[in-house]
Amino acid sequence: MENVKAYYSNAPVGGIDFKNKNINDQGNVLLKPLLTGICGTDRGIVNAGLSFAYNPEGYNFLVIGHESLCQVIESESNQFKSGDIAVPLVRRPGNCPNCLIGRPDNCSDGDKHEAGITGLHGFMREEFKDYDYNLVKVADPSLGDLGVLTEPTKNVVKAFEVFEKVSSRSIYYNSSSTLERKKALIIGTGSEAFLYALLSRDYGFETYILNRHPIEKNKMEMCQAFDVNFVNSSEDNDFPDKSSIDLLIDTSGDPGTVFGFVRKMNYNGIAILFGTNEKAPVGTVTGSDIDHIVERNITIAGSVDAARIHYIKALNYLSKWKKQYGNVLNDMITGYYKPGDLDLFRKKPDGEIKSVIRW
Ligand code: NAP
Ligand code: ZN
Repeated sequence: MENVKAYYSNAPVGGIDFKNKNINDQGNVLLKPLLTGICGTDRGIVNAGLSFAYNPEGYNFLVIGHESLCQVIESESNQFKSGDIAVPLVRRPGNCPNCLIGRPDNCSDGDKHEAGITGLHGFMREEFKDYDYNLVKVADPSLGDLGVLTEPTKNVVKAFEVFEKVSSRSIYYNSSSTLERKKALIIGTGSEAFLYALLSRDYGFETYILNRHPIEKNKMEMCQAFDVNFVNSSEDNDFPDKSSIDLLIDTSGDPGTVFGFVRKMNYNGIAILFGTNEKAPVGTVTGSDIDHIVERNITIAGSVDAARIHYIKALNYLSKWKKQYGNVLNDMITGYYKPGDLDLFRKKPDGEIKSVIRW
């Protein structure tokens, strides 16, 4: 494609390239990004802190950007027309059985790629081509900018699918057939944590979100609006007072913190590890921790990425939440930036839930 303007990483510094990079996109739909969400993965790649990211074959750079809300400019597909709003899928399948059935999120041999992360150019550029089967249409016009949250939300929907599969091994609901008074603890207070909190409330969990420092006013207000309790673990060492966590979701990637709370999990508890942090300090797991996990049938499961079905469900959840919470949901987007605001990649703005670039 000619005259592409793109953010790209070229370790160790990263930068912006407004020159012709001649990226050979293929596809039957031409798209222009409207908004691109920024997350820790983008910051990690730009600052050369992620060992798993790599450039596409034949390129010495990687166009980053995987959280994208786009508009169709031209379409040779009968599924899209010019002006449609679409979200591109991040993970692209390899040839393993899971990839072949449309579940590259459960890839069995690691031979898949992720746009903007592993071996495929991402969406942080003025336009790109893609195939219709890699695009999910945003049908609800009232979602507006919130469509950019589809990508981070789809991860959360997939993780809850894991939760449902694991929880079906025994009776997990309470005796009135609901999850009321069951306790979910989400470690972290970033965008994924807030999306987990929203879905956890939808499932009916009494929901707690935790960090080891106080959180900004905007985040506290969001907790109140979503009926979610905030725990500052540096002040409240006793939370929860007994082993009562039924669902633990970690977005921190910090092993010491995770296992500190696995120790406080209830019978048949489910811990979903989602956050990753290659630089986190080493944590210890003791014999009595293993005893606690075994004797209580606690399951610790990793959950990564999501499939097309989860993008579709994510859009439905976002539409529902938009009706339920109105403008409070819009406040999840805490900052709009311009292409070229490179500081955004160096430092998280205070109170950030989701920063986005408007193209
Ligand atoms: P984020 O904004 O960086 O969220 C991480 C949160 O964890 C921050 O609020 C951070 O707090 C908090 N945290 C870090 N250490 C902590 C500790 N010891 N105790 C309590 N809280 C702690 O990133 P995000 O975009 O929400 O993503 C969350 C994580 O999921 C990241 O690690 C990301 O790489 C990962 N991720 C995984 C998948 C997947 O498919 N599994 C997909 C997307 C992202 P402060 O920064 O405020 O101190
Ligand atoms: Zn695969």
